[in-house]
Amino acid sequence: MPSKKFNTAILIYYKTKDEIELIRKSNLLVSNTIAELAKLIKPGITTLQLDAIAETFIRDHGATPAFKGYRDFPFACCISVNDAVVHGFPTNDELQEGDVISIDTGATLQGYVGDSAYTFAIGDVSEDIQRLMRVTKESLYKGIQKAVVGNRIGDIAWAVQEHTEKKNGYGVVRELTGHGVGRSLHEDPEVPNYGRRGNGMKMLEGLVIAIEPMINMGAKEVYCADDAWTIKTSDGSVSAHYEHSIAVRKGKADILSSFTEIEKAEQENPYLFSGY
Ligand code: MG
Ligand code: MG
Repeated sequence: MPSKKFNTAILIYYKTKDEIELIRKSNLLVSNTIAELAKLIKPGITTLQLDAIAETFIRDHGATPAFKGYRDFPFACCISVNDAVVHGFPTNDELQEGDVISIDTGATLQGYVGDSAYTFAIGDVSEDIQRLMRVTKESLYKGIQKAVVGNRIGDIAWAVQEHTEKKNGYGVVRELTGHGVGRSLHEDPEVPNYGRRGNGMKMLEGLVIAIEPMINMGAKEVYCADDAWTIKTSDGSVSAHYEHSIAVRKGKADILSSFTEIEKAEQENPYLFSGY
């Protein structure tokens, strides 16, 4: 059973070592799912096709898609293209050369949820897009470096914001955050991508969180599209999104999802840009 500790107004479910291993299994399935899609992304494929493949892959591995039905979200994946930041609906639109595609998916295996996301680019994209992708991915790891026992959630938030907004002039989305993850897809605490060092909840061993910078090339403002889910940049600029689920530990966070297979597929797929 997860232990329950009250921490001001939020409820944190700290995980045991065994639970963390189960969350790792779910996350590795999510990572492998995204890697499968990374092998298939090319001009002409639709994001609905990718979503169907992901759902089949997740179910074939004895899991259920954690996003499907979550608050009535109708798909296994959020697939957000170009100015879509997150929560994008898969569609019948064919992907094209130059598209920037964020794939975010989740799987529930043996009662525990994995949650991870990765952004891909088709073909030779501009230096500006390459830099956005590189800086956003870097900011994820800078946040993860701060996710250690004794630090505070604000230390993660500050590290992401410092690298993306302060150093590179990008817009950090305020309306959406990372989150605790475990038996539920979204648990406390919220893990924002902006904030002050030394602020927020102190992190203890057993805290499992998803850290997920959502970074716009332009301004930070976003709006929700007519489908009531897809979040888009207000200025139409491209957005990038990378997410790992991690367990907080002493000295160094334990990353439960993995980009290894995804990056391998990205490099081997001739349609994907991988030199960023
Ligand atoms: Mg996610
Ligand atoms: Mg998430």
